[in-house]
Amino acid sequence: MRIDVLSIFPDYLRALDLSLPGRAQRSGLLDLRVHDLRTWTHDRHRTVDDTPYGGGAGMVMKPEPWGEAFDEIGLEGAVLLVPTPSGEVFRQSTARELAGEERLVIACGRYEGIDARVVEHAAAGGARVREVSIGDYVLNGGEVAALAVVEAVVRLLPGFMGNPSSLVEESHEDGLLEYPVYTKPPTWRGLDVPDVLRGGDHGAIERWRRERALERTARRRPDLLPVSQLAALGEYDVAT
Ligand code: SAM
Repeated sequence: MRIDVLSIFPDYLRALDLSLPGRAQRSGLLDLRVHDLRTWTHDRHRTVDDTPYGGGAGMVMKPEPWGEAFDEIGLEGAVLLVPTPSGEVFRQSTARELAGEERLVIACGRYEGIDARVVEHAAAGGARVREVSIGDYVLNGGEVAALAVVEAVVRLLPGFMGNPSSLVEESHEDGLLEYPVYTKPPTWRGLDVPDVLRGGDHGAIERWRRERALERTARRRPDLLPVSQLAALGEYDVAT
């Protein structure tokens, strides 16, 4: 997969050279290209922002550098991702959809955001644009959102994970939060690993995990449970 990231702080994206995304780059699974948006400015100060029409606090990112950047790197065949707190919520299902794409372009905004005509122009030119929010809070810039999106998408690429089955059991994959997990030692600071996990009865383990996943989701994120799942709670030994 090829991913182009445009930012005025390209160094932010260096974290993707580490750990598993770094290995994916070295193995050729991920072709990550990070661009400094100021490359497409033409004044001495390399200006990317200006005052907002209509007044108000803060600055807005000028459309010209974005337009020139897209012209040069091209958006053909790509999904243009624009992180913004006013976008659709980026979910595991979004990550799955994007993992099936050949190319993503991520436009990291700063200040009060990017002049709205940039997205409008790209969409009118045929680009598939998705404005995405990584949560209901406001960051200073799109770089942290880009890191989150790239990591969530790239770990789903075939060949990324040594053991792909570990992906299947993750939170959000089946609509539920994951059950609690434990490792050795069996007792730590007076706290025991639940007996069922050490008993070797795989049916019982599966049921216990399902119950704990339902319980956790009902308590922490009831919004994730469809009515059908809520109804199923009665069939399990779940404290809500
Ligand atoms: N004025 C904008 C608003 O109220 O919607 C907020 C702009 S924010 C300070 C600057 C940039 O940070 C945005 O253009 C976007 O790239 C990024 N950003 C901030 N919060 C985000 C979020 N929750 N999800 C995705 N991107 C976010």
